[in-house]
Amino acid sequence: MTVVQTSFLETASAWLEENVPERWRTERNALAEDEKIDIRREWDRQLYAGGYSGLSLPPEVGGRGLGLREEVLFHELAARAHAPEGLGRIGRILTVPTLLVHGSEQQRSRYIQEILRGESVWCQGFSEPGAGSDLASVTTQARRVDGGYLLSGQKIWTSFAQYADRCILLARTSTSEPRYRNLSYFLLDMKQPGITFRTIKQISGDSHFAEVFLDDVFVPDEDLVGEENNGWAVAMTTLTAERGGIEAITRYVEMRGDLDTLERCCATEGAPRERVQDMDTALELVRWQVMKALDFMDDDREFFRRTCVLKVMWSEQWQRMTEFAVELPCSEHREHWRHQYLEVRAASIYSGSNEIQRNIIGDRVLGLPR
Ligand SMILES: Cc1cc2nc3c(=O)[nH]c(=O)nc-3n(C[C@H](O)[C@H](O)[C@H](O)COP(=O)(O)OP(=O)(O)OC[C@H]3O[C@@H](n4cnc5c(N)ncnc54)[C@H](O)[C@@H]3O)c2cc1C
Repeated sequence: MTVVQTSFLETASAWLEENVPERWRTERNALAEDEKIDIRREWDRQLYAGGYSGLSLPPEVGGRGLGLREEVLFHELAARAHAPEGLGRIGRILTVPTLLVHGSEQQRSRYIQEILRGESVWCQGFSEPGAGSDLASVTTQARRVDGGYLLSGQKIWTSFAQYADRCILLARTSTSEPRYRNLSYFLLDMKQPGITFRTIKQISGDSHFAEVFLDDVFVPDEDLVGEENNGWAVAMTTLTAERGGIEAITRYVEMRGDLDTLERCCATEGAPRERVQDMDTALELVRWQVMKALDFMDDDREFFRRTCVLKVMWSEQWQRMTEFAVELPCSEHREHWRHQYLEVRAASIYSGSNEIQRNIIGDRVLGLPR
């Protein structure tokens, strides 16, 4: 680690020590859902006020201009300090990288700033009842009208839709072209008439996602990202970010928190302790894979090859960890493990299922015959 990185991490560590909300650190599991949401929303603003928002983004869009490595190290430090995960996660991890590549000058300056300041929560409206793995099957229609588009259709599994101010959304803008060439990518204002949602209860008991119904909802021309009918290429940038390094490191640190609980309390001796040590080694491989990928940041192809496996690695390790933990006789954390076991079932489905991710690895990384 360089002297600059060491000094950055020392300052960040002191800031986290002072700013992580005490209630989150000590009573997180006992908090009501809306209290958690308030703390997570406020955390985005605290990060911005402290100068820890957009660490690796260029100063022209309001970032600190540091490297992705510093950003990754900060996420790791924050999780170790039991910091909340900001409610603006989708905006930061998905919208920002997408707009950096495909956004207009106006979209970048307006929306990235809002996201970094913690002023807007975003959701992702890709999946539909008939379009998940086969995303190009979306049927939500965007009809051209004066000054923009009217959107009608249904989205599903839309995480944080109930809190969102805006949505990155795929809709069909033509029926005459082949299906990969008639999708467009929009930045939808979620606070307008014509949008209704119904929250969905997960098996863990949480309700983090919703069905979203769109009934002639207006999107102005300036909120179309890239060219009309070129939304598929834009969506691929979003999906690559979703399965990439920053996402992996945030999951790695969450898993590290779970592993620390096992090491400290639930599996301190004997065979369980040995299993935990094996899991520790496996988890460090995820971290190693992320850090190694960062050495290839300037080589898009190699960076993609190295980050492509991360989603499968972390999600399946986390599932194995919770399957093990839920069987342990630890009364203090029984409820925590029950919740985690159920919650983490979804990890091999969201951000694109692991079966699909394995297809991508086989096809684009290993070059296997179809
Ligand atoms: C907790 C959670 C949060 C989510 N949040 C969002 C969100 O915010 N926004 C959003 O747009 N979506 C979200 N999703 C949806 C998620 O992206 C989809 O569930 C996922 O892409 C799978 O699509 P599907 O559910 O339609 O399953 P399907 O595509 O119907 O697949 C069903 C099964 O068939 C397998 N399968 C399908 N095609 C193939 C193939 N070609 N080869 C091998 N196996 C295949 C799949 O792997 C899966 O096991 C979320 C999902 C979850 C669980």
